[in-house]
Amino acid sequence: MDIKKQLLSLTPYQPGKTMEEVKRELGLDKIIKLASNENPFGCSKNVTNAILLQMEKAAAYPDGYARQLRTTLASHLDVSEQQLIFGNGSDEVIQIVCRALLDSGKNTIMATPTFPQYKHNAIIEGAEVREVPLKDGYHQLQQMLDQIDGNTAIVWLCSPNNPTGTYINELKLSDFLQKVPATCLVVLDEAYYEYVTAEDYPDTLKLLDSYPNLLITRTFSKAYGLASFRIGYGVANEELINRIEPVREPFNTNSIAQVAATAGVLDQEFIKECVQKNKEGLDQFYSFCQEMNLAYYPSEGNFILIDFKTDADIVFHYLLTKGYIVRSGKALGFPTSLRITIGKQDQNEEIISLLKEYQLKQAM
Ligand SMILES: *Cc1c(COP(=O)(O)O)cnc(C)c1O
Repeated sequence: MDIKKQLLSLTPYQPGKTMEEVKRELGLDKIIKLASNENPFGCSKNVTNAILLQMEKAAAYPDGYARQLRTTLASHLDVSEQQLIFGNGSDEVIQIVCRALLDSGKNTIMATPTFPQYKHNAIIEGAEVREVPLKDGYHQLQQMLDQIDGNTAIVWLCSPNNPTGTYINELKLSDFLQKVPATCLVVLDEAYYEYVTAEDYPDTLKLLDSYPNLLITRTFSKAYGLASFRIGYGVANEELINRIEPVREPFNTNSIAQVAATAGVLDQEFIKECVQKNKEGLDQFYSFCQEMNLAYYPSEGNFILIDFKTDADIVFHYLLTKGYIVRSGKALGFPTSLRITIGKQDQNEEIISLLKEYQLKQAM
């Protein structure tokens, strides 16, 4: 069998241990996972009812066009229904875009470290990957522009960026978009969009009218608290969406995900409360970092990357033995940092006091 040679350089996704496994191995009775930027407050109460009603229709194929969700979301975002494409998670939207635009003659540009799925899918399509290092946690947009040539098919921007939480402000983004050739697609990954509170964060949907080469991806996995159902979306101009649609599998998003997301969109009060609590949670971590003199990136997401100036895996394991799963920066390109999802207030308090204890022990 001839499997594509570029797959040789890729490894399958390594699933983390389940909470049950960790509990058993470490003899813990309680474990809290602040590792995958899931919403610690769950999802809107409206979602449960919607799902229960949908359960009775399990034998029917989902609506391949996701009409109900499409109408609800288009109206919420104030875009046309034809401007939307839905994916089995925004991960799938990334995959669809890669399949539609990339092949072995093309190249694609992204920051590093950033969300790994852009690179992963680009490699599968055989495209050349050009990575531009972050500077102080931020995308170096001029350097990314400098990498563009006649074969550049996609430039990826992640804002807020995972794993740093940093964002691209309005001025920088519009300057960048003006300079990108119209033949090159810009994908702006806004997985954490709902959490953003920065005043100079751009109104990116408005930019779609001026830039037919812009595609924005968002997800219901993070602020909406629906990660288990796998649903996300892309927004762009109608023609671009039309042209990439043939890549999408006919029934790629399931009915439960569609009704859950619809109910989620209709409860913006829930999102507002979560954003407020997230902001308070971030402040808890900022105070801790300042008190302990630890470097961190100010975050517009629901996570924070903190530099402990020591092997991140050691701090990770320390927290694990105390019942907290976080993300070691080792695999994320920040070998001395931890990425911690902002939890509920008491969870934040507890993990912070554990980390204080740890830091003080180190100092002795
Ligand atoms: C979590 C995440 C995604 C993917 O989310 P889905 O669950 O596939 O919708 C995409 N981009 C970034 C930056 C993320 O952090």
